[in-house]
Amino acid sequence: MSGSDAAGDAGGDAGETGELGDIFRRLIRNTGPISLAQFMGESNARYYAGRDPLGAAGDFVTAPEISQMFGELIGLWLADMWIRAGREEPVLYVELGPGRGTLARDALRAAGRYGLAPEVHLVEGSGALREVQEQAVPGAFWHADLAGVPQDAPMLLVANEFLDALPVRQLVRTRDGWRERMVGLEGDDFVFVAGRQPMDEAVPAEWRGAAVGTLLETSPASAAIAYEIAGRLAEQGGAALVIDYGHGEMRTGSTLQAVRAHAKVDPFAAPGAADLTAHVDFATLARIVQARGARHLGTVTQGEWLRALGIDARAQTLSARAPHYAQEIKAARDRLVDEAQMGRLFKVMGIAAPAWPDGAGFDAQ
Ligand code: SAH
Repeated sequence: MSGSDAAGDAGGDAGETGELGDIFRRLIRNTGPISLAQFMGESNARYYAGRDPLGAAGDFVTAPEISQMFGELIGLWLADMWIRAGREEPVLYVELGPGRGTLARDALRAAGRYGLAPEVHLVEGSGALREVQEQAVPGAFWHADLAGVPQDAPMLLVANEFLDALPVRQLVRTRDGWRERMVGLEGDDFVFVAGRQPMDEAVPAEWRGAAVGTLLETSPASAAIAYEIAGRLAEQGGAALVIDYGHGEMRTGSTLQAVRAHAKVDPFAAPGAADLTAHVDFATLARIVQARGARHLGTVTQGEWLRALGIDARAQTLSARAPHYAQEIKAARDRLVDEAQMGRLFKVMGIAAPAWPDGAGFDAQ
């Protein structure tokens, strides 16, 4: 989006976003290019702080907003794990970035039918979204980060489309070796520039000799969260589901994207006014989780996992109860499961404490 479009935007939004762009411009003029991770982290913090971006009238739609079946099957998975691990109490339900609280509400309702009634801890940075979550999940506790969640009970943790919003850094192979990809200025426009500092040490040995122009993307923030989740599971007990779009192996190239009003936009156009995301690197997360002493139960596609958990039977039951909605239910099921929609791009990663059982839906691993 161009600056003149931003000026034509509704009300406070344009003022706020203009401000963040100008803060970045001043910073870059005064101290030189900033890292992409800083640009992305501050843009998203501003983006989420003052709005509910979810749903048809917002910027994007997530799986729990498509159908109650998504949260319900997650709730059943958690209840099944908890029962087979011995029904320990108290137990915590922890969700990272709960959005509107829809997933938590659906999962807790489904899990409650099996006697699972956990204490609810939500990790949410946005004040606007906390208010929405409070309506969906009354009685929950809120935290700014995972560090604030109690450590004295097993934890059933869910993170859906949370890691993709965490900042990434990009390294680029130049003629002078590897450099960090930074955000600089050309006039008033943000542009990518190569940092001055040699970064060869930060690049895995097998990639060091890659061709000029090769780009590697990493997410130190996601790695840190995976490390913390695994450490807690190893010490507190419990299990986790991390669901996001991403790939199973380390790749080259940028996956950074910005979405606004259900369309891709230029990530530099209006910092703080669009959702900036990147693919999650599940292979790296799996290595971190195992190294920290938790079990990687498996990483499968969202389509496979939902089918294994019985989404088709659940869709039939719902349709039988509400025949007028049968078509909507089928469309929602297809959106979540079909390979051309969310079914293949999105992955479900299961993690558990060493003494906890295997997880449903990860059998093939
Ligand atoms: N899980 C929800 C929402 C996904 S949007 C769903 O599936 O519908 C991303 C969520 O993560 C939002 O709730 C956002 O406010 C939160 N979030 C993003 N970055 C965060 C951060 N650094 N710390 C805490 N919450 C964050």
